Amino acid sequence: MEMKSNPGIHTRVTHAGTCPDSEHGSVATPIYQTSTFKFQSAEEGARRISGEENGFIYSRLGNPTTATLESAISELEGGAGALATASGMAAVNLIYLTFLGSGMHIVGTDALYGSSRRIIELDYSRFGVDYDFIDTSDPELLEKTLKPNTALVYLESPANPTLKLADIRHCTELAHRAGALVAVDNTFMSPLLQRPLEFGADMVIHSLTKYINGHTDVIGGMVIFRDEQILEQARPVHVHSGGCMDPHQAWLVLRGLKTMALRVYKAQDNARQIAEFLETDGRVSRVFYPGLKSHPQYELAQSQMEGPGSMISFELNGGLEAGQKLMDRVSVATLAVSLGGYETLIQHPASMTHAAVPREERLSSGITDGLVRLAVGCEDAEDIIADLDQALR
Ligand SMILES: *Cc1c(COP(=O)(O)O)cnc(C)c1O
Repeated sequence: MEMKSNPGIHTRVTHAGTCPDSEHGSVATPIYQTSTFKFQSAEEGARRISGEENGFIYSRLGNPTTATLESAISELEGGAGALATASGMAAVNLIYLTFLGSGMHIVGTDALYGSSRRIIELDYSRFGVDYDFIDTSDPELLEKTLKPNTALVYLESPANPTLKLADIRHCTELAHRAGALVAVDNTFMSPLLQRPLEFGADMVIHSLTKYINGHTDVIGGMVIFRDEQILEQARPVHVHSGGCMDPHQAWLVLRGLKTMALRVYKAQDNARQIAEFLETDGRVSRVFYPGLKSHPQYELAQSQMEGPGSMISFELNGGLEAGQKLMDRVSVATLAVSLGGYETLIQHPASMTHAAVPREERLSSGITDGLVRLAVGCEDAEDIIADLDQALR
């Protein structure tokens, strides 16, 4: 049966990434758990290796299960193609390794995922890469920071854990005018709630570990490219640097992907209710959530995102001690880092993920002592709210 020309999002997610098995008619995509592929003849082997003929050769170069996942997510992001990687960080490094080099400059969001920033500052800098990490919610500051040698602008929106947004379209125009490519880490949103390629970005990065897999049981990553030419620049770097995804890992992510829309919308529904509860609660001084009118970039959220997502940060009146106490008293929310799973996770950046950052630096990037980060999951909203309420008490 032909799918109608403009299927709805639940239909598209359900059918994205189904690899037809002509031999047995398997409905689920088979796991091609093989490292290498047999050639029918010496001639065929020669044609495949020279690139004259399409077909699989060796699983680091490509694998049918992994390729199915790549085309599924590329389709949902509106890309020309994608490369799956062993982790979200392998995806970030694939971009860095492909597009940065000695004498080049990168501008990134200051609140970039910790490892994405650290590896530039401590490692790529050793190979002569110059960098600036700035508040990309301020396009004028971005314009001032761009240099003639800026090769890459790397945005994360919403940023973690402050949930500040970058205007992707505006930042992309400025970067392109300066001759730089733009990559956006879209992990917090999933392709359902924000599609940076539609705003002109050149690449989208996902930690598949989060919403796309959604079951807190796989690490994985992907880069989705706006056009073939940029993809083909990255492909050899991917093949030769070795950060490929395993077929079994790809199969698990495909399995998770099938329920992505159910999970993402349900968690978002919960998050809206929880954010409203927190905002009216006297024990909480501030709530950061792009779905609240009090968010300083509420208008931008409305135009750039299809929904506010399910990440919430909030500040407790009682500071560090109140934050730690809350962590020990919740029972529906699980005390753990990460996000995007079916279950609600809670963490306290000042005593946990950002404890190693000097306090002054932490405060200047908006991470106050009483800030709590909540990654809302798919439980009943009333139960999450009741749990937070008793723990706050
Ligand atoms: C988790 C995460 C990453 C890194 O992904 P891994 O799969 O853990 O390597 C990168 N960016 C964001 C926004 C993340 O949340």
